[in-house]
Amino acid sequence: MKPEETEVWSPVPRVVTPGVTDSAPPSDAIVLFDGRNENAWVSAQDHTPARWLVRDGILTVNKKAGNIETRRRFKDFQLHIEWKIPKDITGSGQARGNSGVFLASTGPGDDGYELQVLDAYRNSTYVNGMGGSIYKQSPPLVNPSRPDGQWQSYDIVWTAPRFHSDGSLQSPAYVTVFLNGVLVQNHFQLEGQTLYIGKPFYKAYDRAPIKLQAHGDPSAPISFRNIWVRPLD
Ligand code: MG
Repeated sequence: MKPEETEVWSPVPRVVTPGVTDSAPPSDAIVLFDGRNENAWVSAQDHTPARWLVRDGILTVNKKAGNIETRRRFKDFQLHIEWKIPKDITGSGQARGNSGVFLASTGPGDDGYELQVLDAYRNSTYVNGMGGSIYKQSPPLVNPSRPDGQWQSYDIVWTAPRFHSDGSLQSPAYVTVFLNGVLVQNHFQLEGQTLYIGKPFYKAYDRAPIKLQAHGDPSAPISFRNIWVRPLD
């Protein structure tokens, strides 16, 4: 065998211009929040325009307005999102800056697949519900959380589940997550949708919005910024 026989020359990967920094959106990203407005988002409850608070380039949860989700629907994607637990957050356990990134929103409430957002800096709770967990399914591999008042980031690779035409599962969902640049979920195979009570199971869907959680815990609302997604399917 010659070296040339194992060389592949096509197709040539298309060119993507990276962002100015590694957290800035590359040229082929869909920007979901750039600090100016929340036009990419609607109320998950009734699909009216999102009513969270946009100020000084950041998006802050409005607990009264409920969850918000993207207008667009996605299947497989790479997602970048940054969030901040407010300085001097109060409360403990699940009531300390609780929010969440639902990688697929399959209903108006907390239906879907939740990557937990929660203060995880010296805050004790069940580990499969801490920040960086796939809620009630997979604790983070390590805890690289920053304290309240500091911006943190998730970089996520989501492989959506596939279903047969009769609704039965063809292939499960997988997720890889970096928290503040540190690997916390490594191609984790999900057992189904996030459930607060009971064992997870799959329910067929095709494309779904990405949803952010307005959790009803009594602590101060958290904020988001710099949200972008690259569809991969
Ligand atoms: Mg949550």
